[in-house]
Amino acid sequence: MEKRELLYEGKAKKVFKTDDPNLYIVQYKDDATAGNGAKRGTIRGKGVVNNLVTNHLMRMLEQKGIPTHYVKELSDTETLVKKVQIIPLEVIIRNVAAGSLAKRLGMEEGTKLSKTVLEYCYKDDALGDPMVNEYHIAALGVATPEELAQIAEYSMKINHELGEYLKSAGIELVDFKLEFGRDSEGKVILADEISPDTCRFWDVKTHAHLDKDLFRRDLGGEEEAYREVLHRLLGK
Ligand code: ADP
Ligand code: UDP
Repeated sequence: MEKRELLYEGKAKKVFKTDDPNLYIVQYKDDATAGNGAKRGTIRGKGVVNNLVTNHLMRMLEQKGIPTHYVKELSDTETLVKKVQIIPLEVIIRNVAAGSLAKRLGMEEGTKLSKTVLEYCYKDDALGDPMVNEYHIAALGVATPEELAQIAEYSMKINHELGEYLKSAGIELVDFKLEFGRDSEGKVILADEISPDTCRFWDVKTHAHLDKDLFRRDLGGEEEAYREVLHRLLGK
């Protein structure tokens, strides 16, 4: 598959066209940002970890019946994916209180939530990705009620499958972010990434962070933590 023009360069990935109009190539970078771009840096080896981990988890989810954009791993940092029209929502699923939810609701970080929490943020950097509910989403016209119901159903199933899978690797799935898009037939499929950049992964026993919070909070050790996730999930 020939890589063609660069279509988009985001904070963590580049997206390229290919000679097939229905396929894109995503290339993962080591660049790291936090606080909507306020903090910038590099996590050495992050691109490789996020690419390999995302692909591994998407293959697992496909086997469990979740449609994803994953097509083929091309290299340690590049993957062929189905082109989608991204639905501009960040779908956040939470099992344990952490980050912005802990702050907003005054809950101690690490408190198990008695019910899984699903949140939506409107993906708009200029607005700072504001939280929205299903009424806002309908008013904005970013997804139909049917699409949103499908997104919620997939998200809950992904939470279940991913949580079980990660537990077997000694990782607790605290919370994570998903993005969905419409494929060439208009079907809703999982897109973007599932990685230590977009999930809170805690060691089951010690609750040590194995994710981007090490970078966001200046705790250090992020390179080792990302490598540890790759090792636990892929044995590499
Ligand atoms: P950001 O845009 O937040 O800086 P990235 O650096 O990860 O994020 O950029 C990747 C971009 O590609 C995101 O905007 C994401 O929504 C988009 N994207 C992910 N998967 C696909 C896909 N299969 N088709 C089209 N766009 C995609
Ligand atoms: N998240 C993400 N991208 C974002 C915002 C959040 O991937 O732009 C993920 C984040 O890694 C965490 C979850 O979504 O796993 C919940 O994040 P939270 O709302 O607590 O945000 P934060 O504490 O990072 O401000």
